[in-house]
Amino acid sequence: MEKIFEKLNNSQTDAVKQTEGPVLILAGAGSGKTTTIVSRLAYLIEGIGIPASNTLTLTFTNKAAKEMRERASNMMSNLAYPPLLCTFHKFGLLFLKFNIHLLGRQNNFVVIDSDDKKRIIKKINSELATPLIASEISRYKNSLLTPDDAYKQAEFFNYQQIAKIYEEYENYLLENNLVDFDDLIALTFKLLDENPELARTTSDKYRYIMVDEYQDTNELQLKLLQKLCSTHNNICVVGDDDQSIYGWRGAHIRNIMEFDQDFIGTSVFKLEENYRSREPILKVANALIEHNRSRLGKKLIPTRGGGEDITILNSSDENEEARKIATKVNKLLDSGVKAEDIAVLYRVNVLSRSIEDGLNRAGIAYKLVGGLRFYDRAEIKDLISYLRVITNFHDDFSFKRIVNKPKRGMGKASVDKIELAAHANETSIFEYIEKIAITDLETLVKSKNAKTLKKFVKDIRSVANAAKESTYNFIDILEDTFHLKDIYKGLPDEVERVLNMDEFYGLFRDFIKNSPSASLDEFLNELTLQSEQDQVEGDSIYMMSIHASKGLEFDHIFIIGLEEGFLPLVGDGSDLEEERRLGYVSFTRAKDTLTLSHVDSRFYKGRRSDLQKSRFFNEAGLCEGSLIVEKNTAFKKGDLVRHKIFGTGRVNGVSKSGREFKLNINFAGTKRDILASFVERL
Ligand code: ATP
Ligand code: MG
Repeated sequence: MEKIFEKLNNSQTDAVKQTEGPVLILAGAGSGKTTTIVSRLAYLIEGIGIPASNTLTLTFTNKAAKEMRERASNMMSNLAYPPLLCTFHKFGLLFLKFNIHLLGRQNNFVVIDSDDKKRIIKKINSELATPLIASEISRYKNSLLTPDDAYKQAEFFNYQQIAKIYEEYENYLLENNLVDFDDLIALTFKLLDENPELARTTSDKYRYIMVDEYQDTNELQLKLLQKLCSTHNNICVVGDDDQSIYGWRGAHIRNIMEFDQDFIGTSVFKLEENYRSREPILKVANALIEHNRSRLGKKLIPTRGGGEDITILNSSDENEEARKIATKVNKLLDSGVKAEDIAVLYRVNVLSRSIEDGLNRAGIAYKLVGGLRFYDRAEIKDLISYLRVITNFHDDFSFKRIVNKPKRGMGKASVDKIELAAHANETSIFEYIEKIAITDLETLVKSKNAKTLKKFVKDIRSVANAAKESTYNFIDILEDTFHLKDIYKGLPDEVERVLNMDEFYGLFRDFIKNSPSASLDEFLNELTLQSEQDQVEGDSIYMMSIHASKGLEFDHIFIIGLEEGFLPLVGDGSDLEEERRLGYVSFTRAKDTLTLSHVDSRFYKGRRSDLQKSRFFNEAGLCEGSLIVEKNTAFKKGDLVRHKIFGTGRVNGVSKSGREFKLNINFAGTKRDILASFVERL
């Protein structure tokens, strides 16, 4: 118990001890929000004896969940059943495993990733832009709109078309027992919504719920949380409006702003000390974010004084940038800094390429989090497709991917013919081939192909049976039966691909070793959920997108590509305030040093372009002679104003707060200090 509180300040301790009812902890970066939530979990279990299985702690990325699990296990004694601490999607997956039968579906469903989703959409319609349709379908699902609803709402022909594609897409998923990422949450909500008894027992089970990074929840996630809390209302969320970076995915700052209306009886806690970053880092981060208008406005006081100034690197192009960064990283390593305490961050994944080259050349090992994932490589997708068909014979989508791999002389035309016939018979391709007499099959395709297909489905079935008996030996049986390594025989990159396949086989064996009773489909779903790649652990620095870095901290941070067009990213649908929040998130990952890099030109999308340095340098007060422009205020004593949370009040006084104006406002007798940008004049 002592251990839990010894590292907390008073506000953190108060928040930890407020175990009942809704709690909102609103605070800036590095103020110990995650620390508080993890301590609260430990306090619930060890301090007041709540069974670990009655708690649920949710966050957004696998890496963040992993870090929280580590922090929690340091605070608690060894538990036989550790508390469930995972991403929203993982929670959905577990929930659906147990409950999807209530929707008339089998629980050996397979989770598809965004690539699979796009491929399915493209198959249904190749005219409209696939990414647009993919994101619209996502939007519908997150708004709980059925294809019918979507059709009725569509004002324009294009949207009617998209609604139709959505309908076909849904049918396809159902027929093949597939589930996409949005379904993991949408179907979970649907089940709870349509089954009050299930909602009650589930809520009773998770009597204490905690959510990190609440600013990134969307409307559907809020609804899900409300269902989960329906019998107790014990929910504690932590968040920072300045770090909301998933607006493009429908995240709502509103969820934080109106938390007290969504969960009645909320206690609010604020944490105002920053324990992470040295003073100069915090100063530039605060200066940058102050340029945003839509903020709640929070205090963030440095507790770690001193520290080096921010380093700015200017290079002529990306190669020079990579060289400079590699040199700097090497210097840090030589001075005894541990590799895992260094991270390179970027706004868009493509920028990692040149840095990777630079690091490789300098012999610096790195871990790439996210980006072009191991699992996105063709050879790995092939293996995954084999596993999918073996767990679910009716997965036509994967069946077609592997039917001619390694080459079996099966042309696309033959496969299409069989697919048509199978669908006309309302069966899957696999089942159709298995059931139909070979003589009938020969009327559709060449006799040689008919034989090949018959053998193929027979082999699949026998490997599937073998998998049921011994998952551990499964890989050998798979390879001996299908000779998958032959797919790439003779290709120039055969060695690399076979190495990747071996690595995959190794991953599979490790998984089975760790959970011997697990089945193939559990392995597959686990893979799909891994939005990041957990490669070899060891002495390597980290490289990741700013999105993936949320919630993490490193002693030394390098941010590359601080140019107009890259950070901030400008263009269709981009939102400068969200870009600034991304800048803020990236700066505040740093504990000791922050290096910001920009180049004069970059090779991008097939050509070299001249670039201008990011406006964020200026806004963060990092340009020589950059004038910090003072804002004017239009408020004066006596003005009637409205605030989103506190309602209507009257201005009592105006004062300066940094570059902003602070108003002292009387809200029905309670006086509060509020930044001028948060109220509007009535
Ligand atoms: P972010 O907004 O980036 O998610 P956060 O608010 O979740 O940040 P934490 O990651 O919990 O912040 O904490 C930041 C750092 O401060 C961590 O290294 C943590 O160990 C340390 N820390 C938290 N609380 C205290 C405290 N009371 N005293 C000293 N250090 C603390
Ligand atoms: Mg955090």
